[in-house]
Amino acid sequence: MPNDIAFLLLALTVSLVTMAAALPAVMGNVNAAARRAQAGVGLQALGWVLLLLSGWVESGAWQDRLFSSLSMACLAGGLALLAGAFDLWCGRPALDRIPTLIAVVLPVGYALGFSNYPFRVGWANGLLALQMAMVAASLARTPAVPVGRWRWLLVVSLLAQMVVTAWRGLLGAFFTESYPSFLSPHPVNYAFAVVANATSVLSLVGILLAHRDEAALALERLASLDGLTGVFNRRAWLAKANVELAVSVRYDHPLAVVMIDLDHFKQINDKLGHEAGDRALRLVASLLLATARTGDVVGRYGGEEFCVLMNHADSAAANAFDRRLRERLTDAASRELGFALSYSAGIAMRTAFDDSVQAMLARADATLYRAKAQGRARTFTLDETGLRLHAMETPSAC
Ligand code: GH3
Ligand code: MG
Ligand code: MG
Repeated sequence: MPNDIAFLLLALTVSLVTMAAALPAVMGNVNAAARRAQAGVGLQALGWVLLLLSGWVESGAWQDRLFSSLSMACLAGGLALLAGAFDLWCGRPALDRIPTLIAVVLPVGYALGFSNYPFRVGWANGLLALQMAMVAASLARTPAVPVGRWRWLLVVSLLAQMVVTAWRGLLGAFFTESYPSFLSPHPVNYAFAVVANATSVLSLVGILLAHRDEAALALERLASLDGLTGVFNRRAWLAKANVELAVSVRYDHPLAVVMIDLDHFKQINDKLGHEAGDRALRLVASLLLATARTGDVVGRYGGEEFCVLMNHADSAAANAFDRRLRERLTDAASRELGFALSYSAGIAMRTAFDDSVQAMLARADATLYRAKAQGRARTFTLDETGLRLHAMETPSAC
């Protein structure tokens, strides 16, 4: 391979192969998104190895057709895999139907039309450019989770590659004389080689940053969730409750705090074992999440105590929540746990403008204490009309 283009493309291939080998080593044990990204970079590296091999064999021979077609499959397949990784990192399902379809039809059309040079160059580069544009557009959409600026690095990198790839496709298809091969010393090939070398580095940085951001987000989530039940832990619940309270005061919306304590929970542990107690806690947490509305904040306040903060909820709404929860728990406990489970609860409403989460919790706790003292398995509500019993069920058999 006597010219500079070949050397630049060889350098690109070497760096892609090195990246493909290094990524799994440095990223360690990873999730589905990072695995897709690693496989995507691996396929693209293989694509470039095959493309260079096709430049070594006799032009137009069956080996050329085989290596070139496989190379197209790897390049387009690699980008489709990367698109899936980017979607997952942006908090969306990896559903890249058109980029995946391109990864299938591109190599098939390329292999079938291989003997027609203008067609195959136009087809392959045109579809690759379209695929790059679609992945860039998808990355530019507002993500479903907070993500860093890495996505713009990838958008820029994809758009730069798209421009030189489309340029190659147009020249190959319509100005074939001036574009004899991807190794010929044409300005578009120099531009392509330089852009590809630069963007491969940018893409690597983008992938590593995306992976790091995701790990940081997961750590943050982990630090705010209760390990056993998956609802917010006390610290995170209090932090969110304070924000919700401030919003409720500002817009003068009603706000309720429901404090729940499971009845005779110690006996459940003692009689049925700690594991049964843990299953009961997980069940209650899942029912709380299922019963709560979007925007309600569910937390585990302590051992067998849970808190729910309900924004925009008057006492009737809080009571309705409690009723639904009781019905679901009665049903689910006998079906899923095999033993009865009940709870006592206290509901406190935000009263004055200077009310605080701590004061509401104290009122809910005192109200809960009344429910316990009067026989458990019931809920008391403290609102502007005073203390009211509003729900009661048969006490647990435990
Ligand atoms: P009451 O009806 O008055 O609330 O009685 P209780 O037995 O529920 O209350 P008590 O405060 O005496 O006991 C709470 C029990 O909750 C004691 C503790 O072992 C248990 N507990 C706290 N955290 C966990 C946990 O993570 N898993 C299990 N299995 N049990 C827990
Ligand atoms: Mg308790
Ligand atoms: Mg209890």
